[in-house]
Amino acid sequence: MTTPVTGDQLILGEASRTGDETFNALDPHTGDALPRAFAQTTPDDIERAVVAASDAFVAMAARDDSDRADLLDSIADALQEKAEQIIDAVMRETALPRGRATGELVRTAEQFRAFATVLRQGWHRDALVDPHAADALPIARPDVRRMNVPVGPVVVFGASNFPLAFSTPGTDTSSALAAGCPVVVKGHPSHPETSELCGRAIQDALRRHDFPAGCFSLLQSTHNEIGAALVEHPLVAAVGFTGSEAGGRALFDLANRRPSPIPVYAEMGSVNPLLVTAAALEKRGHQIAEGLANSFLFCSGQYCTKPGLVLVPSGDAGDEFVSLLARAVRAHEASPLLAPNVAAAFDRSIERIRETVGSENVVCGTTSRRGLERPAVLVTSSAADLEAHADILTEHFGPLSIVVRYRSTANLLAVLQKVPGSLTATLHAEPEDQGLVAALLPVLTGKAGRLLWNGYPTGVSVTGAMMHGGPYPASTFPAHTSVGWTAIRRFMRPVTFQDFPDELLPTALRSDNPLGSPRLVDGQLSNAPA
Ligand code: NAP
Repeated sequence: MTTPVTGDQLILGEASRTGDETFNALDPHTGDALPRAFAQTTPDDIERAVVAASDAFVAMAARDDSDRADLLDSIADALQEKAEQIIDAVMRETALPRGRATGELVRTAEQFRAFATVLRQGWHRDALVDPHAADALPIARPDVRRMNVPVGPVVVFGASNFPLAFSTPGTDTSSALAAGCPVVVKGHPSHPETSELCGRAIQDALRRHDFPAGCFSLLQSTHNEIGAALVEHPLVAAVGFTGSEAGGRALFDLANRRPSPIPVYAEMGSVNPLLVTAAALEKRGHQIAEGLANSFLFCSGQYCTKPGLVLVPSGDAGDEFVSLLARAVRAHEASPLLAPNVAAAFDRSIERIRETVGSENVVCGTTSRRGLERPAVLVTSSAADLEAHADILTEHFGPLSIVVRYRSTANLLAVLQKVPGSLTATLHAEPEDQGLVAALLPVLTGKAGRLLWNGYPTGVSVTGAMMHGGPYPASTFPAHTSVGWTAIRRFMRPVTFQDFPDELLPTALRSDNPLGSPRLVDGQLSNAPA
């Protein structure tokens, strides 16, 4: 059955419109406005959505984890039931190819299912039980029990490049709902139809499982003030953000200036250095060049994990490697970028790089420049030159990578020191590089949240051990991740119950452990009664 799209805000389980102003998303192929108009959020909408979320919080937090797990499974099912309509909307609004949109929808549904599994296993609570110990030193220990509880209403901002997995139904929304937090999404203005369809799927599932309607709202707007007002609202407890460094930093600063500051878990852009050793170049140069070109050109390089800086030894093998990359760039079929602001920022990047390293060091692919179409770009530089122009070591979102030639390990380390905090760092090396790798690892570990060995960083597995964050500016909280099971921790906080009677404790902390959840009891991991 086709879901109606009305262009309204989704608040309290209904479609709602309180203002007259509207906006239209653009067709990236042509740059023209798409026909459907969407209502701009008003201050009234914000107030209703946030108050509804706050009112829903206690009831939502009181529901069993197993109820929330069922809800998450239902949202996953609802997204997949509407798959055809959602995928069409994604393609219309983003120009991403069908295969990518289809894969992203499956991933998004699986993220909900993964958090449902986490809830059923129970380890998100991080439960610790330290029973009363009369003989503890230096004094007797009271009965101390601790577990995580949800923080309260969460505001979510999605990114343009992942209209599903990092947007309205994305990992911030699924992890916050899993934690027991109502969510207000500020939809990304480049894909409002996609957001509305997904928002309606979430509303349907909430209804089906009898959760309060205030547990989820979707507000759509092209005005930054709307996002700012959400972050500043006193009833909001935390923010999940994926997007640009400028946007994430602005909202982070705003949240810190509130009378009661709140965390903004911003996952932002990244340089993602990829390093090739001389031994790897000699053995696998062609293969690495091919894999790397696919990685930084796929979907026009619009990935936060795109390898944007490639470090390659100088010499003949390195020259050949660079010419293989340049050939791939020239042969690359250009496709439209996601949104006008993305295309404009890409144009500024190319201009700035040309001025810095000289046009002769910039190879461009071909493009008609129709709509938001832009060429693929390869930039070459030496380690010495780049050290002097370290300001270009920043994310250039789009199909562009900078290849830097190094002459020595010292050269290499000097460039790496200048690389800002990143989501990933990749090593292409051979077993005989053990000494070099040992010297590089501490530097790379200090720079990135995920280290890859002989691979490409673009894809991010949704799994328990994944770390998708990194030192600033990759994220504002490098201890946390937006992808993977531990993403739920961002929206929970630990509370200790001291000397409480068993019957008044949360079920997960009771001595008989009725949920059978994993707990550290007196320092020992156990599912058994305490
Ligand atoms: P964006 O322009 O920062 O937008 C993200 C969201 O934040 C939008 O809803 C935007 O609304 C809002 N926003 C931005 N600046 C704001 C401000 N000053 N005040 C209030 N709201 C603000 O990012 P994008 O272009 O959509 O996404 C591309 C970027 O996201 C790239 O840098 C990419 O690397 C990064 N990204 C990172 C990850 C990750 O996990 N690390 C994942 C995906 C994407 P408006 O559009 O109305 O301004």
